[in-house]
Amino acid sequence: MRAVTVIPGVPGSLRLLDDYPEPTTEEGSILVEAVAVGICGTDLEIIEGKYGEAPPGTDHLVLGHESLGRVIEDPTGTLQPGELVAGIVRHPDPVPCPNCAVDEWDMCRNGMFTEHGIKALPGFARQRWRLQPRFAVGLDATLSEVGVLLEPTSVVVKAWDHIFRIGQRAEWQPRTALITGAGPIGLLAALLASQRGLSVHVLDLATEGPKPALAGALGATYHAGSIDQLDFEPDVIVECTGAPAVVLEAMYKVAPTGIVCLAGVSSGGRTVDLDAGSLNRTLVLENNVVFGSVNANRRHWDAAAEALSQADRSWLASLITRRVPLSEYAAAYSPGPQDIKVILDFTA
Ligand code: BGC
Repeated sequence: MRAVTVIPGVPGSLRLLDDYPEPTTEEGSILVEAVAVGICGTDLEIIEGKYGEAPPGTDHLVLGHESLGRVIEDPTGTLQPGELVAGIVRHPDPVPCPNCAVDEWDMCRNGMFTEHGIKALPGFARQRWRLQPRFAVGLDATLSEVGVLLEPTSVVVKAWDHIFRIGQRAEWQPRTALITGAGPIGLLAALLASQRGLSVHVLDLATEGPKPALAGALGATYHAGSIDQLDFEPDVIVECTGAPAVVLEAMYKVAPTGIVCLAGVSSGGRTVDLDAGSLNRTLVLENNVVFGSVNANRRHWDAAAEALSQADRSWLASLITRRVPLSEYAAAYSPGPQDIKVILDFTA
């Protein structure tokens, strides 16, 4: 069957193989036919040879961690043939660490977790894949065009889950949320903020293209510019750019007792001037919290499926700016300036 692969660590090794082996039942009892795979910055880093790990004993890694498929067969009866399904990205480490032992693999402490399409597990950019029931998340039948957004949604559900848990350390009545970065993660974070009844602000550099209207359709206020220029202090900031200057500005700008969630991954290697003493002073004297958030566990995936089913389908569909047929796979991995989410379409 066909599969999109790379040799991790080797830039330019992206290929569409025709003869990739069918998945075996060792991967799981649920057999799935691929519908779509979403592409994000992590895939691009893997293609550049900067990230990613092949499964033990092989050179090739099948890409794809943002999945959507249709069940072909499920002998366990958990899902029905034809049902929409997505595969959970991360599997717990084998030790297991205290967090993986209770299925909080998103909080793995020893780094020995594995991830489909990223770290030591084949991804979902292949025509058929298999899942164990505990890693298979069923989706509402009306999400066939947009269910591929489940993985990035699970990541922001986890971020919001932790924001509210951290908020519970004292009396906390958040009203305003600022989302920095109007890419897929930022816009989905804004969707979840509006579902939580917050007054939402989205900040991005773009003045043209679909981002301002997508934020506006959520009832959010769109700001093109820098955090410094905002005339209010947000109770919560979800930082989705990973841009060092924005990360620092967010820490200074958040309101007293505010929470900054860092959800964007920086590439590293760039330095900025920082008055660490004044930053420390601000955070201490205002009881601020800054924390990082990555990945998601089963609880978050299930909540993400619910969040998508409550969202406006056409708004979700407009996040997908290009649907590229598998045969033209290379084009999918070259995002354009107006792209939000690009997907590989396995049904075309
Ligand atoms: C994925 C996460 C993953 C992370 C680190 C992200 O792109 O969405 O599921 O944990 O990369 O590998």
